[in-house]
Amino acid sequence: MGGRVGKKRTDKRGVGQHHLVYSYSICYHQTAMTVGYIYDPIYLKHDTGQHVEVAARLEAIIAYLEKTGLTSQLTLIEPRPATVDEIALVHTRGYIKEIEDTAREGGGWLDPDTVMSAGSYEAALYAAGGLIRAVEAVMGGEVSSAFALVRPPGHHATSGYAKGFCLFNNIAIATSYALDKYKLERILIIDFDVHHGNGTQETFYDNPRVMYISTHQYPFYPGSGDIEESGGGAAKGTNINIPLPAGCGDAEYLKVFEQIIVPAAQRFKPRLILVSAGYDNHWADPLAMMEVSVTGFGQMAEIIKGLADELCGGRLALTLEGGYNLDALAASVKATLDVLLGNNASDPLGQSSRSFGAADIDRLIETIKEIHKLP
Ligand SMILES: [Zn+2]
Repeated sequence: MGGRVGKKRTDKRGVGQHHLVYSYSICYHQTAMTVGYIYDPIYLKHDTGQHVEVAARLEAIIAYLEKTGLTSQLTLIEPRPATVDEIALVHTRGYIKEIEDTAREGGGWLDPDTVMSAGSYEAALYAAGGLIRAVEAVMGGEVSSAFALVRPPGHHATSGYAKGFCLFNNIAIATSYALDKYKLERILIIDFDVHHGNGTQETFYDNPRVMYISTHQYPFYPGSGDIEESGGGAAKGTNINIPLPAGCGDAEYLKVFEQIIVPAAQRFKPRLILVSAGYDNHWADPLAMMEVSVTGFGQMAEIIKGLADELCGGRLALTLEGGYNLDALAASVKATLDVLLGNNASDPLGQSSRSFGAADIDRLIETIKEIHKLP
């Protein structure tokens, strides 16, 4: 495991010995470049039984990060449970109680896709709290960026409903928390999960302080995410949907990032960037029909990190959403962390052997640029 926040050697102030002063400056520099990850076995207690969103997903990620030696380069940040008041920044008190009661009764199905066990309420509190800790660590300068490796995922959950494997909307809660606590003027959320984050869009649809940008397969679950859904009232233009046809791969995603996401982010000038990092658009994923490779996820991470460095002092926190092929998921999370660390990323799975041919998304990109008046 890597070092832990709070135990850094920051006490080596100069005492007249040059080598100590020197080592302090090196240490300080390394501290400034630290990348954190949030993980705790509590996330395994959300037991979904026969399901694609299973505890084995996180176990596969952690095992791979250990095996490849990456955890020794990272700082482990221990999560805390979100408080009910923090969850209530996004969800109704009645809904929170329903989740708590369902766990106390041993669990059950909340919608056709979403199931709970006795341990799910606590895991969900820690999932939201895990991303909150990531935000606190980034905002407090403990780490330069952080990745919350948590479950259950969150971006489909709305104020009063569980949906699509999600109980509490972790990224919406952490964003609301950051707006409140740090009085940030603007936060950018980038959601590259293959599904549209309907719950996140809904939470901030009328809020001009939050820009939500989503790439997603469309038409597809959950049905929302049309280009015309662009924000309400004073928030018009702060909701950017990029609905992509099935079969898009690295080239199409990079085009969309470079031509839409980068200029939109540069115009919005966020003070913090949060990311719904879903890896179910990998070509090997069983749920969707996209063709992204591990290399492609690394390239997306490069662009996002570049935006954070350029626009908001590098302040970047990611949270895990989907990704259901365990090998692809683990390698893609590692590639993302490698980029944050400045390592060369590798791709053990390679490119898809299926050939859909390049999807023609040029007209779609032009239309989105027109709607959002992007250069
Ligand atoms: Zn997804």
